Amino acid sequence: MLALLVLATVALASAHHGGEHFEGEKVFRVNVEDENHINVIRNLASTTQIDFWKPDSVTQIKPHSTVDFRVKAEDIVTVENVLKQNELQHEVLISNLRNVVEAQFDSRVRATGHSYVKYNKWETIEAWTQQVATENPALISRSVIGTTFEGRDIYLLKVGKAGQNKPAIFIDCGFHAREWISPAFCQWFVREAVRTYGSEIQITELLNKLDFYILPVLNIDGYIYTWTKSRFWRKTRSTHAGSSCIGTDPNRNFDAGWCKIGASRNPCDETYCGPAAESEKETKALADFIRNNLSSIKAYLTIHSYSQMLIYPYSYAYKLGENNVELNTLAKAAVKELASLHGTKYTYGPGATTIYPAAGGSDDWAYDQGIRYSFTLELRDTGRYGFALPESQIRATCEETLLAIKYIASYVLEHLY
Ligand SMILES: [Zn+2]
Repeated sequence: MLALLVLATVALASAHHGGEHFEGEKVFRVNVEDENHINVIRNLASTTQIDFWKPDSVTQIKPHSTVDFRVKAEDIVTVENVLKQNELQHEVLISNLRNVVEAQFDSRVRATGHSYVKYNKWETIEAWTQQVATENPALISRSVIGTTFEGRDIYLLKVGKAGQNKPAIFIDCGFHAREWISPAFCQWFVREAVRTYGSEIQITELLNKLDFYILPVLNIDGYIYTWTKSRFWRKTRSTHAGSSCIGTDPNRNFDAGWCKIGASRNPCDETYCGPAAESEKETKALADFIRNNLSSIKAYLTIHSYSQMLIYPYSYAYKLGENNVELNTLAKAAVKELASLHGTKYTYGPGATTIYPAAGGSDDWAYDQGIRYSFTLELRDTGRYGFALPESQIRATCEETLLAIKYIASYVLEHLY
């Protein structure tokens, strides 16, 4: 009996940690002041196994910023010595990654089915897309916009009261596999739409006059991989001729300043842009859907984590969109609305100045397609969690995010073009 119990516990643990243990791994937060500091980190990245958490890659580090990266246990002494020798101010954001990974499942209830306040594995989310559509036929319909590299259906939920020629807002989640709070938010949005339609004035008006396209998980293969094999996997799971390295960064795979800056041509890198723009089936499916529905899609929002930012085009260059002033005002107000609930502070601005020039992500691409209101939301990390935000914080994070999105949606509704 005892042996059985032990076996069951081990099975549960490996299901949660994908066979990795993260014992002794650390996440550092380093203050970077100047180009010398950036060079130190660049050298470190070339000699040790550094996994950049914020910003996404070594090429996006800018002076006077903080950089978060994960270090394998065997490289910690080296990294600490280099940081000390070069007088880089730093702190240990996560002192033992194992504890944080275990703590992400900290919600008291461990129901077996779908839950809006838990992280759900893909099979559960997939079943949920079917169920929520079946149970709410007047508000939700489900379609498949393509398949992933490994052949899984990519689902899209259309949420809104039936009507002819309705304008639409497109929201996607789950580009980067390890950013688990992102899919959790897409599910939360659908829940709130269904739960408060007809009783809450703002949601009711939005759903009466607009359709919301909700894409719960784009990078499904990667998401599954973070549950089964590698919790901090980021990319897709595609293979590449001539390389044993797997995956492309789906947000570096759009035809917007493709692979010019802030992305890598090396398939082994976390920001690999792919062999060509839209080479990834997931990216292509998303781009095709948006291209085919450009007459109705008036806003595009893509949900990531964890930098607490609301950014808008452009990221791929220091240039500003034609309605930059409007986007800035809108972002400022949306961020204020978000903070009104729990005081969570977001920065906002054009991607290039807020982060650093990067190969255009999906928001830049959508904007270049003519979608005037295109944003990337990097959801919160209050505390020292990185991508392993505890389940107990899903509700608060989703609630405040919903406020910002409702604000943007209402604005878009008032400024239809
Ligand atoms: Zn991301």
